[in-house]
Amino acid sequence: MNALAPYRRLTIKIGSALLVDGKTGKLRAEWLRSLAADLAALKAQGCSLVIVSSGAIALGRRLLNLDARTLPLDQSQAAASAGQIALSQAWAESLAEHGIVTGQILLTPNITEERRYFLNARTTISTLLGLGAIPIINENDSVATTEIRYGDNDRLSARVATMIEADCLILLSDVDGLYTAPPARDPDARHLPHVAAITPEIEAMAGGAASHLSRGGMTTKVEAGKIATQAGTALIIAKGTETHPLRALTEGARHTLFAPAESRAQARKRWIMGTLELSGNLHVDAGAARALLSGKSLLPIGVTRISGEFERGDAVAILDPDGREIARGLAGLGREEADIVKGKNSTLVTELLGLGTRSELVHRDNMVVLMGMEAKVS
Ligand code: GLU
Repeated sequence: MNALAPYRRLTIKIGSALLVDGKTGKLRAEWLRSLAADLAALKAQGCSLVIVSSGAIALGRRLLNLDARTLPLDQSQAAASAGQIALSQAWAESLAEHGIVTGQILLTPNITEERRYFLNARTTISTLLGLGAIPIINENDSVATTEIRYGDNDRLSARVATMIEADCLILLSDVDGLYTAPPARDPDARHLPHVAAITPEIEAMAGGAASHLSRGGMTTKVEAGKIATQAGTALIIAKGTETHPLRALTEGARHTLFAPAESRAQARKRWIMGTLELSGNLHVDAGAARALLSGKSLLPIGVTRISGEFERGDAVAILDPDGREIARGLAGLGREEADIVKGKNSTLVTELLGLGTRSELVHRDNMVVLMGMEAKVS
């Protein structure tokens, strides 16, 4: 069975142990060539692909002759700095063989958690995807401090997957999925092909040590699974050590699939309702209020008054002519631009703000309509 058939937008995390030979510290060039061919094939089938690649520290160790098993922080940051160049180059060259351009993005947790950085990073990634490139992401290990870092690319990749609203996150490493107990320690351990929900029992099964080169063990993978599945993204844990690891998944290779907890649209709406502070109010006329209740986006023409200070992406309340909150959503424009287009016909909006501006003030995908006091999360 083709495990990847249902997915169109994929984030694929590649562990250090796959990219770098544990004994020699060198890049596994032939393996990377095979993976690049798999990626090119998926892309040719219409998939959008974002890679989260480890391996900077592992490659940098050899370049800088650092061979202690555990490096002190300053040396691992230096290794990441030297190794990241080699890593990016390897990716760029192997995908260039298929005519694919790569873009490098180095992230730190504040980028995925602070809204302005988040929106910028997301826009850069989707622009790269729109231009046919494959973004290659890693943590910015050279500047991250111990307090402010992910430290493992399992969780980083889950944040990236949810940021770009991927259908599926694939963690390729040296294990072929989750077992009822760590298989190295327990001969009776059973492989689990499908996990419907991450329960405390499932978390307990994940206890296990990381391998020599990679940081995350099964624990961080299951944590990544929680982040991904709660946001509506499926997670696949698969073994990637052999060549053509993605093709193998399309041909039925063993893996564990963690099903998403709810649909992406539902997860997004819950996030809009639950976690965001409101930065402003948009007062709308009766026609716009009716349109919103029937599932339409909010267009500038229906807006009569604006209050509060907000930027694009901030949460705003939408109020009907009687001042009742009827919906909540993410503003498609900042306050200044919203003031310019308020009450204007959509065709004028592009004229006023320039090409490339979306004409919705709040897009329906970014909106939760409130029915009475209850949010209608559909
Ligand atoms: N960011 C680290 C690196 O590129 C890897 C972290 C991990 O293995 O999860 O070397």
